[in-house]
Amino acid sequence: MHWQVGVLTCEAGCVLEDLENHLGAVNLMMPIDLGAKGSCLIGGCVSTNAGGIRLLRYGNLHGNVLGLEAVKANGDVVDCLNTLKKNNTGYHLKHLFIGSEGTLGIVTKVAIQCPPLPKAINTAFLGLNSFEKVLKTFQLAKRELAEILSSFEMMDRLSLDVSTGTFGLKNPLTSKSDGHDYYILLETSGSNVNHDEEKLTSFVEKALADDFIEDGTLTSDPAKVKHMWALRERISEGVLREGYVFKYDISIPIPSFYKVIEMLQERLRGQNITRLSGYGHLGDGNIHVQISIPSYKPEVAALLQPFIFDYVSSLRGSVSAEHGIGFMKTGYLHMSRTSSEIELMHEIKQMMDPNGILNPYKVLYPLKTKAN
Ligand SMILES: Cc1cc2nc3c(=O)[nH]c(=O)nc-3n(C[C@H](O)[C@H](O)[C@H](O)COP(=O)(O)OP(=O)(O)OC[C@H]3O[C@@H](n4cnc5c(N)ncnc54)[C@H](O)[C@@H]3O)c2cc1C
Repeated sequence: MHWQVGVLTCEAGCVLEDLENHLGAVNLMMPIDLGAKGSCLIGGCVSTNAGGIRLLRYGNLHGNVLGLEAVKANGDVVDCLNTLKKNNTGYHLKHLFIGSEGTLGIVTKVAIQCPPLPKAINTAFLGLNSFEKVLKTFQLAKRELAEILSSFEMMDRLSLDVSTGTFGLKNPLTSKSDGHDYYILLETSGSNVNHDEEKLTSFVEKALADDFIEDGTLTSDPAKVKHMWALRERISEGVLREGYVFKYDISIPIPSFYKVIEMLQERLRGQNITRLSGYGHLGDGNIHVQISIPSYKPEVAALLQPFIFDYVSSLRGSVSAEHGIGFMKTGYLHMSRTSSEIELMHEIKQMMDPNGILNPYKVLYPLKTKAN
């Protein structure tokens, strides 16, 4: 592994958290951060185009990966380990390997641009009583916090209950004994502690004065920042302890972000659901929907699919915002991609992996049984 003026070049087998620690020593950071950072490899992140919690600020890996090296199905090495920010020469082949889930080649090295490590990280935890106000608060945050806004995460009441109930984590907002209907975890990162704190304080004061939020707390204390992030990041793990969980990871236009939960509440009425809740990267229009029941029930599955994907498709959303198509959503690819796109995907797959040996059945059905 080595770095040059903000560009890290490393082997695909490096663990994301190790890279983050190495870069921290030279005041740089990885442009990606996710819950699985202690175990996931950078090659896995690139191959899945993993998004994470700061995509709002730093963008996705299609933008941050400058170059890579990959091995093709026939064993040939493709060297596109470019480290330039600008290089408009020919096709940008790296994109074929980013997010294609290992179906077009094995990534062996990557070059990634790395932003400077922020000198100041502040977080705010806010409580709200309607989704409409969540949207207004997001608009206000974009306007007031602008370039220092690095995350904008939303959790509904039942999502936060998972972290507080299952792991005993404390809700930092105590003004209402029965809690709030919606919560926002917002992060800023910048280069000047006082400037950022001032901006964030003024934003929260405005949001309170306009009656967008019911309560809010701010911190730059690393332990408290970590605690706030744990409330958000442990939801996915906690809900798995409740029996069988149907999980969906969808992107839809932000105004419709929470409507999907309201529609499912109606649709699943009377089905003995333990928990139906939504949380996610509101800033990216990406909501995680989770429906837990004591044990798997085919009739609940039938109520959910394809209903939820039909809804997403009607809004021209994505049936898989950040967790890819894998094996399980191959049959739904056509709901987020046009037939001409899928046709070209098959042609590329056929050209790069004619014998179908790279992650067969992932993303696309094999050509012989082509069903998407
Ligand atoms: C707790 C938890 C939280 C998560 N949070 C997020 C999140 O916030 N955002 C997000 O986007 N994702 C998230 N994920 C999903 C997952 O962590 C990411 O997609 C991750 O980057 C996968 O990396 P990995 O090394 O574990 O890859 P693996 O799981 O081993 O592989 C993932 C896929 O990529 C292929 N692959 C792996 N390495 C290579 C390679 N070198 N070349 C070609 N193909 C390869 C595999 O064949 C497989 O299809 C989370 C997962 C967990 C368990």
